[in-house]
Amino acid sequence: MPANKHALASAATGAPNLSETFDPADNNLHRTIVENLADGVYLVDRDRKITYWNHGAEQISGYPAGSVVGLHCFDNILGHVDAQGHALCHTACPLAQTIADGEAREAMVWLKHADGHRNPVRVRTSPVRDSSGQIIGGVEVFSDETASIRAQADAARARHDALTDELTGLPNRRLFRAALAGRIENLRRYGWKFGLLIADLDHFKAVNDEFGHVFGDAVLAGVASTLRGAVRAGDVLARWGGEEFSILVESSDEADLVEAAERLRILVARSEVHRDGVTKTVHVSVGGALARLGDSSETLFARADSALYAAKSAGRNRIEIAQPTRRAQEAT
Ligand code: GH3
Ligand code: MG
Ligand code: MG
Repeated sequence: MPANKHALASAATGAPNLSETFDPADNNLHRTIVENLADGVYLVDRDRKITYWNHGAEQISGYPAGSVVGLHCFDNILGHVDAQGHALCHTACPLAQTIADGEAREAMVWLKHADGHRNPVRVRTSPVRDSSGQIIGGVEVFSDETASIRAQADAARARHDALTDELTGLPNRRLFRAALAGRIENLRRYGWKFGLLIADLDHFKAVNDEFGHVFGDAVLAGVASTLRGAVRAGDVLARWGGEEFSILVESSDEADLVEAAERLRILVARSEVHRDGVTKTVHVSVGGALARLGDSSETLFARADSALYAAKSAGRNRIEIAQPTRRAQEAT
């Protein structure tokens, strides 16, 4: 008979007494191991009276063994609740269910620390049986999930920060590059057409010079907000850098791109920035190009950039779409 079975069976003669299952006199090794686990481990008898409480349980719960052994686990000690805040003790206690049906269980719950705050814990419950197979109690092992939940949140935040422009909250250049690579691949594989637009603020240096850099930042944030509301669902808008925004547009021909670019240009021209008693309207010039089979990010950007340059040269507050036939769109 394996040692642990022996330990549990030793409690089986006469009235079950789970505290004997970890009697150091005959089970020193197991007791030492369990005692020193970082996980919390506790045993209850059939009435859910706590008969054993290891060091890990003390650490995670804040309750020393001396204060809980002999109490019932439903005596408002851990007060497990689920993610919806439902109290589990009297209706859905995993340990009580395990004692009732002999099935091991695993659940994510929130326990109440002795200080009163709630900690996320993963609990695993198993029945404890005597040598005849009768259930004489249950064991719950619980591990503190706080660190892993925090690590997940930190990782998500780091991912978000790495891909987001701080000033405008838009995707940054890195995220845009990845999205563009995906669109180029989809064009090659499935023929899904798209275009690239670059919107660059006109004479923005003069805005900074006249009103200061902080005001300039507010202008950038305001233009970003306007652009966010001007693109369609499925389009990707990013701050490409400085006072330039890049947009991936689902479009099947240049006419779609012209329409999208005009919408951006006009909505910016019809917006204002209010700050420190100043009201200011800025303009953007927009260059665009429809992606072609065989384009790389660089070749597509080069055509959109040339178109932007043409729009600037033609007087700004204009759009220009790169293609052999279409002429620059006049500003309105
Ligand atoms: P153009 O019409 O030819 O585009 O002229 P421009 O003045 O907009 O272009 P230029 O490239 O000469 O100047 C861009 C300016 O954008 C200069 C730079 O200080 C400003 N700029 C870039 N990034 C930021 C930023 O994050 N905040 C502020 N306030 N200004 C910025
Ligand atoms: Mg620029
Ligand atoms: Mg500019």
